[in-house]
Amino acid sequence: MKKILVTGGAGFLGSHLCERLLARGDDVVCVDNFFTGQRKNVAHLMSNPYFEVMRHDITFPLYVEVDEIYNLACPASPVHYQFDPVQTTKTSVIGAINMLGLARRTKAKILQASTSEIYGDPEVHPQTEDYWGRVNVQGPRACYDEGKRCAETLFFDYNRQHNLRIKVMRIFNTYGPRMHPNDGRVVSNFIVQALRGEPITLYGTGDQTRSFCYVDDLIDGMIKLMDSPDDITGPINIGNPVEFTMKELAEKIIRLTGAGSELVHKPLPQDDPRQRQPNISLAREKLGWQPNVKLDEGLERTIAYFKSELNL
Ligand code: NAD
Ligand code: UDP
Ligand code: UDP
Repeated sequence: MKKILVTGGAGFLGSHLCERLLARGDDVVCVDNFFTGQRKNVAHLMSNPYFEVMRHDITFPLYVEVDEIYNLACPASPVHYQFDPVQTTKTSVIGAINMLGLARRTKAKILQASTSEIYGDPEVHPQTEDYWGRVNVQGPRACYDEGKRCAETLFFDYNRQHNLRIKVMRIFNTYGPRMHPNDGRVVSNFIVQALRGEPITLYGTGDQTRSFCYVDDLIDGMIKLMDSPDDITGPINIGNPVEFTMKELAEKIIRLTGAGSELVHKPLPQDDPRQRQPNISLAREKLGWQPNVKLDEGLERTIAYFKSELNL
């Protein structure tokens, strides 16, 4: 039985990951400071004797004995990561150092939840792993983008300097059940607004694009990457390459919910990337992975979740 540490395990992606690892028979320790995560996301796992939750902030050292570490701790929504930007950078950088130190001592394999934000507002489209990115080092998104970039640097230096077994996964926009209703990211915002009959808030013209991956597909890719041979370190893009404008997303959600919501325009946040689409050739080739859930199907499942969550 493998003992696996999941940092950020009470968050959106982390809770799905814990569930999947337990289902295949792993022993799982979830570490979370509950900044954006919730106990309720993992409440259904608490009766499993192989599951354990620790309240802990990864910017402080952590001493546990584990075989694998999935490092997911970090707020992911712009609203939340900009709330306390210094803490966001600390979580990515000091958190990475602590988790890498832990991996070094225990000889554990370690996976980093990196992000498409590494590419910033990209001039290369779709984004391939060899693109270096275009990130504003001083802007409001920098705490997240640069923190994650520095974490990648640390992962590759621990790999070269200390022979650590590392896996760096660049996650593109992912959605699904257990996103918090106040998460602030676009899919949850639009669905909650539509279900409540409130206006849908389109930032800017709504012509900017994103490519959305359903959570189950994403977790498949994450576990496949962790279980891949040691020479596959990444960075590797995991996401769904089907690209939509935010206006198209809003119209889809209005249609699927049957809502009477109107569209209202709000200012485009500073440095908001204009376009984003993963090139997933590497994941296809190295991991035999590709996403299967179409946006309409994933949105329907997510809408059903929010309906019950909001008692509608
Ligand atoms: P989330 O906000 O739901 O989860 C993050 C979790 O980390 C929360 O449970 C939070 O309480 C915890 N956390 C934050 N700071 C911590 C700290 N210092 N110590 C311990 N726990 C801490 O977000 P998510 O969507 O589940 O994202 C998970 C990871 O995946 C993040 O690292 C994020 O950057 C990355 N990611 C997510 C997406 C996406 O679309 N969901 C895209 C790219 C990257
Ligand atoms: N660390 C940890 N848990 C461990 C081992 C290390 O949290 O089991 C932290 C420790 O605080 C240290 C950091 O990881 O500062 C980096 O560890 P490393 O061994 O790489 O370097 P050190 O700083 O100890 O020289
Ligand atoms: N967005 C929007 N309305 C909202 C929330 C977000 O139009 O209520 C836009 C946002 O400006 C961005 C896109 O949707 O262009 C995706 O935003 P999100 O915060 O989900 O993720 P990220 O920008 O980090 O990809």
